[in-house]
Amino acid sequence: MEGPAVRLLLGSGLLRRNFPTGLSSWRIPPHVLKSTQSEAALNMTNNGSPLAPLQTFTDEEMMIKSSVKKFAQEQVAPLVSTMDENSKLEKSIIQGLFQQGLMGIEVDTKYGGTGASFFSTILVIEELAKVDASVALFCDIQNTIINSLIRELGTEEQKATYLPNLVTEKVGSFCLSEAGAGSDSFALKTRADKKGNYYVINGSKMWISSAQQAGLFLVMANIDPNLGYKGITCFLVDRDTEGLHVGQSENKLGIRASSTCSLTFENVKVPEANILGHLGHGYKYAIGSLNKGRVGIAAQMLGLAQGCFDYTMSYIKERMQFGKRIFDFQGLQHQVAHVATQLEATRLLTYNAARLVEAGRPFIKEASMAKYYASEIAGLTTSKCIEWMGGVGYTKDYPVEKYFRDAKIGTIYEGTSNIQLNTIAKHIDGEY
Ligand SMILES: Cc1cc2nc3c(=O)[nH]c(=O)nc-3n(C[C@H](O)[C@H](O)[C@H](O)COP(=O)(O)OP(=O)(O)OC[C@H]3O[C@@H](n4cnc5c(N)ncnc54)[C@H](O)[C@@H]3O)c2cc1C
Repeated sequence: MEGPAVRLLLGSGLLRRNFPTGLSSWRIPPHVLKSTQSEAALNMTNNGSPLAPLQTFTDEEMMIKSSVKKFAQEQVAPLVSTMDENSKLEKSIIQGLFQQGLMGIEVDTKYGGTGASFFSTILVIEELAKVDASVALFCDIQNTIINSLIRELGTEEQKATYLPNLVTEKVGSFCLSEAGAGSDSFALKTRADKKGNYYVINGSKMWISSAQQAGLFLVMANIDPNLGYKGITCFLVDRDTEGLHVGQSENKLGIRASSTCSLTFENVKVPEANILGHLGHGYKYAIGSLNKGRVGIAAQMLGLAQGCFDYTMSYIKERMQFGKRIFDFQGLQHQVAHVATQLEATRLLTYNAARLVEAGRPFIKEASMAKYYASEIAGLTTSKCIEWMGGVGYTKDYPVEKYFRDAKIGTIYEGTSNIQLNTIAKHIDGEY
């Protein structure tokens, strides 16, 4: 209720003077009517069929989801703690991912791939991350970035050369970031100078995931710094190319089993035929693949948070204090219900972004929202799970402290949370 002073001001119109002009209280501003917001389009399907809930899967998606779940529980779970301790993925897990067809999910069967959908990839990442976020990342980068770029941009010869190997044995790394070029990635300094039929790459990269295992590097380098970001070009560089050195893996807080290395390029000769896509279009490809990749990271964070939550539920339903199960205290139940609701919202954001990608509809804002929100919720969920488990949750005898450590990376890679918020805000600015 307004006090007498406020009523007086409203009556005199004094308070209203500070509001934007042209916005009377009950009139819908004209830009709202022509808003490009996605919800307007969600009321219709192309073929007029009834709308299915977001958590509706095709038979193929169901099959992939359940076979990955089995793989994760039977083969990955027993090795999670050792891989975290040794900061290394076990060879058997890498081989298993290839054998299960999980390293070429969307790759056409004519190249030996699984020929499944982007949504299937998202389900795979989610299921793997429920058990180990490092394994999920390994699979995520190969599918959402490496294979994706080659499938979409490669010449027929490049596809025939690389895709059959990428689906069976060869790991790929995406090399954009440098010491001086993180969020501002187009400030990269790595150069590629043309010499006859070759380009000679010099410079260095940082934070390159899966670099320890990679046989192929997709390297962003500038062919002419005078062109600014329009000189950035994507090169396919084989690991055994002379002058390419892979550094030690970083000693990290979380996703320890995932290797994160620096790379140096000393006069690395790459044939012109190894340019992926067009000269100077690398910046577009980087943006495009990271936009899609963000849905993958959202799925990683979603799976990780759900895995941690699931584990914790079974503990708090067994642990007794004050003569009751911990779960029976209403104070705790409300917290659990709150986190479960946030997890559901994360899942819907993530699945919706993935379905938009598949439908060929605009998805950039939704992908950023999914990644941003999933990372926040993964941090909150894993933190709460430690609290709910009490002292044991804080020890390495239980998996929740690892989930907590693994969750932090979601707010950093493939665009920090601030960068996601910048993207979301930019879209909102354009919509109103
Ligand atoms: C484990 C790990 C794996 C990675 N894997 C890869 C990989 O495979 N390939 C690859 O190319 N890179 C990879 N990266 C790099 C990653 O993408 C960058 O770390 C990330 O983009 C952030 O860059 P930065 O670390 O330089 O932080 P900075 O850019 O220095 O950011 C520091 C802080 O400043 C904020 N900030 C910066 N600019 C703005 C702005 N405009 N508005 C608001 N806030 C801003 C950021 O949000 C952040 O909070 C990886 C990083 C890690 C840690």
